[in-house]
Amino acid sequence: MKASAASVAGFDVARVRADFPLLARRVHDKPLVYFDSANTAQKPVGVIEAVDRYYRQFNANVARAVHQLGAEATSAYEGARDRLARFINAASREEVVLTSGTTQAINLVAWSWALPQLQPGDEILVSTMEHHANIVPWQLVCERSGARLKVAPIDARGELALDAFVAALTPGVKLAAVTHVSNVLGTINPIAELARATRRRGIPLLVDGSQAAPHLAVDVRALGCDFYALTGHKLFGPTGTGALWARAELLERMPPLFGGGEMIDEVRFEGTTFAAPPHRFEAGTPNIAGFVGLTAALDYLDGLGHVAVQAHEAALLEHLTQALRALPGVRIFGEAAHKVPVVSFLVDGAHAHDLATLLDHEGIALRSGHHCAHPLMRFLGVPATLRASLAFYNTHAEIEQFVAALTRVRRLLA
Ligand code: PMP
Repeated sequence: MKASAASVAGFDVARVRADFPLLARRVHDKPLVYFDSANTAQKPVGVIEAVDRYYRQFNANVARAVHQLGAEATSAYEGARDRLARFINAASREEVVLTSGTTQAINLVAWSWALPQLQPGDEILVSTMEHHANIVPWQLVCERSGARLKVAPIDARGELALDAFVAALTPGVKLAAVTHVSNVLGTINPIAELARATRRRGIPLLVDGSQAAPHLAVDVRALGCDFYALTGHKLFGPTGTGALWARAELLERMPPLFGGGEMIDEVRFEGTTFAAPPHRFEAGTPNIAGFVGLTAALDYLDGLGHVAVQAHEAALLEHLTQALRALPGVRIFGEAAHKVPVVSFLVDGAHAHDLATLLDHEGIALRSGHHCAHPLMRFLGVPATLRASLAFYNTHAEIEQFVAALTRVRRLLA
């Protein structure tokens, strides 16, 4: 498909942008071009208003008070669980643990599910393209247990090498943990295929869905995985929200990680019994306002429709990729056949941070650095990349502005 500046049928990006107040602001006296949504996404006004409404009208703690406000807050918080369950097509709301984000979700699996059963010599399989959040928790529990981290390779295009992944699923592997979408390369991994391979061998598969959920329709039952982690702030919701989905039979076997209020059945000084999942994993007062906002974000996303969003994003990705390829001395990292609109690149003779700083002065927000993926940077043979990460609210005109600005600022560094 040729890159097209025409908007995708059924998707009115100007109307969508009007829902995101922050996109209208200026930065360094230039119109903002926000190309950093993989870092955190902007929020529609419905999310901002939902959080505001919560604090103005029904702020109270959950699951403790019998008064009306407490009932309303509890119903909104538990409503977020229902909404998330529907968003990812979970078999039941009890399979959804509300967390502060993906990092907490993966750590919960590492410490509560993996550690109690890991033996010296066992292995956890990850891939070269993982974010530190899907590496370091496994390293920590490996250190405690004497287990080892094993790494499934990727190829030069930035795709997971399927045969090597399957070959790595040896009997010592107790869990495979793979990202659904790479935050650096934009690669969409074939999770359903990976899950078929892990299931056949009785190895649970954890999927880091942080970068997938904002772009793809996630159906955990169709994917066939065992754990799925996501983070709310990349999903156009508030920071400090997220979820771990896990098959009920796995959650049932997991001991609590944090102890405190809300997660108990009965507490005596002689010993405590715990609530059933998912509340067993939700000690203390949660981010109630955040989950009220996340519910609004998921309503908003579903209202846009995944088909229209994906068509618009595919056109943006094609346009951006072609435009960068047309610039001399630009090297793109990640040429997978299936990608989300996330493009990492470097420009000959220019440091990523210098370019990002100069682009910021042109009003363009994009990230430079290692993107919390040191091992992937090492594989790519670079210390850092620039990363333009787009969302459905970005436009073809912004891509033109970005490319024009990049052409201007690189001259300053030549
Ligand atoms: N995994 C991936 C692939 C990510 O991109 C991120 C965020 N950059 C995370 C995990 C961690 O998410 P959070 O910081 O919201 O817990």
